[in-house]
Amino acid sequence: MPLVSLTINGFKSFPDKIKINFNPGMTGIVGPNGSGKSNVTEAIRWVMGESSARSLRGDSMQDVIFGGSELRAPLNRAEVTLLFDNQSKQLKTDATSVEVTRRVFRNGDSDFQINKKDVRLKDIHQLFMDSGLSRDSFSIISQGRVEQIFNSRPENRRSIIEEAAGVLHFKQQKQSAQTQLAQTTDNLIRINDLVNELK
Ligand code: ATP
Repeated sequence: MPLVSLTINGFKSFPDKIKINFNPGMTGIVGPNGSGKSNVTEAIRWVMGESSARSLRGDSMQDVIFGGSELRAPLNRAEVTLLFDNQSKQLKTDATSVEVTRRVFRNGDSDFQINKKDVRLKDIHQLFMDSGLSRDSFSIISQGRVEQIFNSRPENRRSIIEEAAGVLHFKQQKQSAQTQLAQTTDNLIRINDLVNELK
């Protein structure tokens, strides 16, 4: 499932719209310290549904918006678009080309789109789940993450393997079914109490 391109506009150190095309083979991004290499990988993680501002080195999600420089005023919006070639159908959709967009505004508003249709964060997570590209997967390994994986507890390491093996999706579905079951059981108990009161 090749990455075709990444378009960044107003995200972190990129006030102007830039497009990176990922041609077949290996793509390397080089540059001096502080030039924005990590910001590029963070843009990819962000558009794929990263919801922790901390893991993007910020305090709030609005910190991903270009915050101004000596020569440029701060912006009010950050937008990132990632385009995938999905002919292999690794992403859970029938579309052969998948474009995912995420935007955030200074006032806190944010939105997501898959192929230009508004969706929820949950839909983005579901799209990438089991593709090996979800936000918790190890397809993107940031600085320090290797040590973190090695030093993590066995249960946490296990969830990485489960993600890669494609069972995490079923575990989450099971958990959500169990929560629903518990709620339904509570409702039934309440209904029985009411029926007994009315008798
Ligand atoms: P290194 O090689 O040292 O790891 P790098 O090339 O990976 O550096 P990044 O860490 O991606 O660089 O970029 C850091 C730069 O991004 C800093 O100059 C920082 O001021 C800038 N930056 C981060 N967030 C914002 C923001 N919201 N607005 C403007 N600039 C930002």
